[in-house]
Amino acid sequence: MAQDQTRSHGLLIIGASQSGVALAGSLRALGYQDPITLLGEEDHRPYQRPALSKEFLQDKVDKEKLIFRAHQYWDDHRIELVKGERVERIEKNPDGSGVARSTTGAEFPFDRLALTVGARARRLELDGADLGGVLYLRNADDALELKAQLPSAEHLVVIGGGFIGLEAAASAHAMGKAVTVLEVGPRLIGRAVGEETSQFFLDAHRAAGIEVRLGVQLSRIVGEDGRVTGVELGDGTVVPADIVLVGIGVVPNTELAEELGLECGNGIRVDEYALASDGHTVAIGDCANMPNPIPGAPADERLRLESVNNAVEHAKVAAYSLTGRREEYRSIPWFWSNQGPYKLQIAGLSVGHDRTVVRRDGTDGKLCVLYYRDGRLIAADCVNSGVDFLDVKAALTKGLTVPADDAADPARRLKELAVSGAPEPLPATPRS
Ligand SMILES: Cc1cc2nc3c(=O)[nH]c(=O)nc-3n(C[C@H](O)[C@H](O)[C@H](O)COP(=O)(O)OP(=O)(O)OC[C@H]3O[C@@H](n4cnc5c(N)ncnc54)[C@H](O)[C@@H]3O)c2cc1C
Repeated sequence: MAQDQTRSHGLLIIGASQSGVALAGSLRALGYQDPITLLGEEDHRPYQRPALSKEFLQDKVDKEKLIFRAHQYWDDHRIELVKGERVERIEKNPDGSGVARSTTGAEFPFDRLALTVGARARRLELDGADLGGVLYLRNADDALELKAQLPSAEHLVVIGGGFIGLEAAASAHAMGKAVTVLEVGPRLIGRAVGEETSQFFLDAHRAAGIEVRLGVQLSRIVGEDGRVTGVELGDGTVVPADIVLVGIGVVPNTELAEELGLECGNGIRVDEYALASDGHTVAIGDCANMPNPIPGAPADERLRLESVNNAVEHAKVAAYSLTGRREEYRSIPWFWSNQGPYKLQIAGLSVGHDRTVVRRDGTDGKLCVLYYRDGRLIAADCVNSGVDFLDVKAALTKGLTVPADDAADPARRLKELAVSGAPEPLPATPRS
């Protein structure tokens, strides 16, 4: 591959969102001196996504407030920000250098490559899914489209009872819309939380006036003159809709990595240092599949996290790797989701839990569910329980546990119950 060998091209970061911005910033904070190009396909300056389904949708915050950095930041930190360029091909040399080519024909040579390409909304495969008014919510353009269509809509149907769907449902309901949530699974947010938390949100949304149907079968989207009018269910009933918002999860963007021959599987596979299988490329954030960072988790347990906190922490790990140091992902993952008056905060990862303990102090609208694995605290879902969330996060960070038999007593602070629980790594999960 012919390339200008006389100058350093530095690092090319593909994907200018939460993890790309965090990586560029972490590198400069560590004193990284090489050129950094942060390139993204979106025409917007890099922005925060969480508000798209919450405050931004409800007009409580304007677009400018979502922008990560002022114009001056990029110049001050010698980061070249390239917007509106979608990389479609990458040629890479064995030493990790190469050139990326965009759909406009532009070329971006690099010495090192970082993939922060995130994930895209999973598309609904159903008759009628291409009708006008069937929308998704992954990026700013999606949110602008939803905001443009909502004022004239009376009835919003949300397909998918996960975080994004429920946040958008609560926002639209607060704006006076009639909202129905259709979930094919047996409970809400089933991939991320345990049964107690699912039930809490089911009760809360129903009590607020949102219609939630679980275990539905979707037959097709029905419409007139090219525009959606409803969703037909397996029993033949049609739920009327002026807008159908599809929130059925995301698909990690692994295509570039696959073309590069990097190992992929539910994301781009990286090691504990955020390095992909070629040992040069780093991949972080929503697109990356990494070892479970919770102390004591089985050595071969892998996962892909979709959260702001993960994007930021994973960026730090990758920044160390790119500056020649090796630092593992040490922080305890955490996540939040605001749904109407309910603020869910999750500390740790409940994957693999074998016991739950529920703490309730009798206050309506409050919940804390603690998750245990082999007798050790590994995570908590806290709804409007900021103190419990902070206590669990602090305990997990210090390698402490809270004895399950004591934890249910809401009169006792979790931080006072926390005791040493230094985890030994669990044996590797047997392969089937
Ligand atoms: C509506 C919504 C609400 C959310 N709410 C919360 C919340 O409350 N709490 C929380 O913790 N997390 C929340 N999240 C999740 C959080 O925003 C993501 O985890 C985070 O954005 C991941 O950052 P990322 O940079 O890894 O990926 P992404 O944000 O997906 O960014 C990847 C970027 O790469 C670009 N890209 C992809 N391929 C190419 C290519 N070939 N060439 C150029 N550019 C490319 C994409 O266009 C995108 O801009 C929410 C997400 C959404 C969508």
